[in-house]
Amino acid sequence: MVWTLTSKGPPPLRTKDVPLLEMVHRHAVVFQQYPESFPLQVAVFWTNPGPEPENPLPLVHALKEMGIPFFITRDLGQALRHRLVILYPSVDAHTFTQPQAEELTAFVQQGGFIFAQNVFWGGVQSLFGFRSFAPSRKRYHLAFSGTPDPIMKYLNRPEERAVSLGSDHFAEIIWSNGYVPGPGAEVLAHFDDGTAALLTNSVVKRKVYLLGLSLLDVVLRSQNNRDYDAQRHYVNAFEPGADVWLLILRAWYESYAQDGVRLATIPGGQRSALLLSHDVDWENSFAPGLDFARIEKANEANSTFFIQTKYVDDANSKAFFFEPNLDTLRLLKSGGSTIGSHSIIHSRGFNKFDLGSGHEVYPSYQPRGLGFDTASGATVFGELRVSAQLLDGEIPGQDTIFFRAGHLRVPDSLPEALERSGYQFDSSFTADDVLSNFPYALPRDLGFEEDSDIYEFPVTIEDEESPGFAKRVPQALEVVLANAENGAVSVVLIHSNESTLKAAAEQELLRQLPADMLRTDMVTFARFWRARDRLQWSVTATSAPAQVILQVKSGDAVTGLTFEFRRPIATVTGGSTLFPDNHHVVLPELQPGHDVSIHINYVQ
Ligand SMILES: [Zn+2]
Repeated sequence: MVWTLTSKGPPPLRTKDVPLLEMVHRHAVVFQQYPESFPLQVAVFWTNPGPEPENPLPLVHALKEMGIPFFITRDLGQALRHRLVILYPSVDAHTFTQPQAEELTAFVQQGGFIFAQNVFWGGVQSLFGFRSFAPSRKRYHLAFSGTPDPIMKYLNRPEERAVSLGSDHFAEIIWSNGYVPGPGAEVLAHFDDGTAALLTNSVVKRKVYLLGLSLLDVVLRSQNNRDYDAQRHYVNAFEPGADVWLLILRAWYESYAQDGVRLATIPGGQRSALLLSHDVDWENSFAPGLDFARIEKANEANSTFFIQTKYVDDANSKAFFFEPNLDTLRLLKSGGSTIGSHSIIHSRGFNKFDLGSGHEVYPSYQPRGLGFDTASGATVFGELRVSAQLLDGEIPGQDTIFFRAGHLRVPDSLPEALERSGYQFDSSFTADDVLSNFPYALPRDLGFEEDSDIYEFPVTIEDEESPGFAKRVPQALEVVLANAENGAVSVVLIHSNESTLKAAAEQELLRQLPADMLRTDMVTFARFWRARDRLQWSVTATSAPAQVILQVKSGDAVTGLTFEFRRPIATVTGGSTLFPDNHHVVLPELQPGHDVSIHINYVQ
């Protein structure tokens, strides 16, 4: 054997091939993906199929996240056979004929409910209860009024009673339509110029609702982080600026659907979930990870470690993706923790990186940070694919499907690069910044046209903001509880650079968490959310007056899916579990592709 001194550094790393996938465009128009299948579905009447129609994606996000069953149609007659109808995205002089306007009025008089946004047509003015409207891009704030109404049931906290629509640093922000109410209409929310943002009008005993904003702007634009800085904080605070619209639709459905059924956001009948994560982005952050894992196990919790696979020296730090750090990762993995990628060079300039070729591999991919936010040889694909190649190669049983960007910098190409590199999940935004505390499908190009296959889990609480997580546990708990009230989740990010103060603080948070809250790692919850989002389900009547059949089919194996029934239940079949509250039914473990039928017998 010949020994040679080498300056080439540590031994080569093992890699596993990460195939480069093709982008699949679902050419089907979004409304064809959501067909009519049972009477309890909300009918979404898609109003504007013009040459460049605004697609229903923002409403699809809202309804799916809330677990509200719906279908999308262009057939008004079909829509009006359902009890609840949403007109989306707007109603103008071209949307309906006068006879159709009369049909809408008759529908409400006979017991139907309508929720609409941006109605401009005089032909339905008296139905929706407005005298006039004024479009503007200069309304920055919205406050809900004290008028009691069932659809405001979840808006109890100050951060929910008033929201920001954009920063006044911008001369113009999103379009809004301020209404002047007609006689008898009630104003449920005002813009800052005093015009009505949300109106309700009573017709006989039914109510119609009219919103002077588009969910494209107040939900999807926020989720894509293309809002006009509407967030009131960046991280560590409760910011439900987009969620209020989801919660209004949820309350609308629960209040007016007869015996409504909703797919709950949290598994196992639990109230909410705390999703724990650690970023490992420093040479000394590996060993303390074992302390966090131990404390989590002792508190019946679990977490995901996002690993920076730093194999190059650069201006920011020396390489540290080698032994014994790799052995620590194997211990974490075999101990039950889950592992995701936290890129390779963790650059502040990641959001400006080129996409790359998709053929980047170790060791020829040689990215280097040069300064504060500059780098050479680095691409978005390289950071995603090569980190996954290394994690999968060095850690037995690892399949890297979760990503978090360094410094939470997000390029527009991230959804595409993640999809094509075999990832399924991302956690690179903060919940405050995207104004939402529910996971969501991340649209391609962070745009408005189509979803990617990636789900986003934004960060709620992090550990670095002054005075540090250890001194902020009570505030963190308050945010977690505010989210729990809405059935939203809270993602906690704690860097594992030390385990003395931070692990004790995490333990304190876990100890104070209510017993009906799930505490788990991000990969496990994300797999649940993906299966939930893709679930096919229906509730249909049987010949017995107090019995319905819940039919479900999942593409993925999933445990703990939970349905909320408004009407009290006496018994259930099919291996499912009825909660003591008589309203929540937890399904048995579902196998991919299998149909499961559950008989629900209501209290008579
Ligand atoms: Zn980091």
